[in-house]
Amino acid sequence: MCWDVVVAGAGAAGLLAAIRAAERGRRTLLLEKNRKPGAKILMSGGTRCNITHNTDARGIVEAYGHQGRFLHSALAAFSPADVVALFEAEGVVTKVEESGKIFPASDHAADVLAALLSRLERSHCELRLSEPLVGLSRSEHGFRIVTSESDYNAGAVIVTTGGQSYPGCGTTGDAYRWMSELGHTIIPPRPALTPITTNATWVTSLKGVTIPDVALRVVVSDRAVNASEAKPKKKNKPLDERRGSFLFTHFGLSGPVALDISRTITGHPEPTTLDLECDFLPMQSVEQVEAAIMREVASDGKKQLIGVFSRVVPRRLAEALFAKAGINPELKAAEMSKATRQQLVEALKRSRIPVSGTRGFKKAEVTAGGVKLSEVDSSTMESKLVPNLYLAGEVLDLDGPIGGFNFQAAFSTAWLAGSHV
Ligand SMILES: Cc1cc2nc3c(=O)[nH]c(=O)nc-3n(C[C@H](O)[C@H](O)[C@H](O)COP(=O)(O)OP(=O)(O)OC[C@H]3O[C@@H](n4cnc5c(N)ncnc54)[C@H](O)[C@@H]3O)c2cc1C
Repeated sequence: MCWDVVVAGAGAAGLLAAIRAAERGRRTLLLEKNRKPGAKILMSGGTRCNITHNTDARGIVEAYGHQGRFLHSALAAFSPADVVALFEAEGVVTKVEESGKIFPASDHAADVLAALLSRLERSHCELRLSEPLVGLSRSEHGFRIVTSESDYNAGAVIVTTGGQSYPGCGTTGDAYRWMSELGHTIIPPRPALTPITTNATWVTSLKGVTIPDVALRVVVSDRAVNASEAKPKKKNKPLDERRGSFLFTHFGLSGPVALDISRTITGHPEPTTLDLECDFLPMQSVEQVEAAIMREVASDGKKQLIGVFSRVVPRRLAEALFAKAGINPELKAAEMSKATRQQLVEALKRSRIPVSGTRGFKKAEVTAGGVKLSEVDSSTMESKLVPNLYLAGEVLDLDGPIGGFNFQAAFSTAWLAGSHV
């Protein structure tokens, strides 16, 4: 039998693309490698599934930076409001959190997956599990699809196999080979939204401490700047800068701002030549921090200096910064020299963490890189090189920030592909 459409991979994109194609009356087969569909939906957002962001199409395009242009048609076809409406129509009440992230009100990712599966069932799409594609090529009928179990023919194929992050979920970058064989360019995949590692013990000893608002900058370390004697000394301009919360861990840094900035590190040829510069008080300038310290000292010179710092940053961080600067934690406010004051201001505004790397694909929430966007028609998601071959979701060279942007892109590109296939 020749299927109208075979969809490869039953994640967020594959489920929605298959629903849309089948609802349009196309005989659709959805093939999934795992025993169960939607593994990443279930584990996403700390098992709460952040389905999208409280913004409009323009907000999503902006969040994607230079890749955003590719998403215009997909978002026009299926916007954040459409994502919310789809789930609400399946009985999943949603809520918007202060950060703008949208979750099911139940906080259960399982409800999101159940909604997609229920609509998939009504669409009469056939879902076959534990059946990985092992090959995809052109044939006289359109495409020949070889799986671990069988051989299929289809007039059209939608590839939604995701990237290669969290390979334990089944996403091992399988499609990159087939896509290359079909003539597509693969932008080298690299981990994005992955925790950052360091060997600095003052950082790892702070595991469990959360900083709710920090400005994080990726800079070339002084070690690297000094080593490159041949190059003229340039101002050490940050390679990236983001603001938000982070978490100290036993290996380094995690949490939204660390994950978001990690793509700059994984995209650098020599990540170990980089530092993360932390501004723990981004609301205040250096001058304001210095003036605030002077005011505190003037008000009561007998109090311990560390107490003053513990009011603006967590106590354990204050202790670590004092220790790193070699300052006695029992020092009284009035005993502080100008040099000590400047050292402490520096620690609060410009502490450097040497980068040793990242946790890589194993712990990356998304994959940067993938099928080159310029080879895909963004108004239909059809390959510009192979007629009737469609792509959607993370298999494309698309990676967004934390906040529901990645599911939104997966859903929008999938809906568009399913609408044209
Ligand atoms: C821990 C974690 C938390 C996350 N949290 C969020 C969040 O809250 N909000 C958000 O927007 N994004 C989040 N993401 C990112 C989001 O999960 C992905 O961007 C999204 O799932 C991409 O959808 P996709 O359908 O393109 O790929 P996937 O969801 O990865 O689906 C691909 C599917 O294809 C299958 N497959 C692979 N190879 C084959 C093959 N050869 N044959 C058949 N099937 C195959 C896989 O088994 C998988 O089921 C998170 C990711 C992780 C890892």
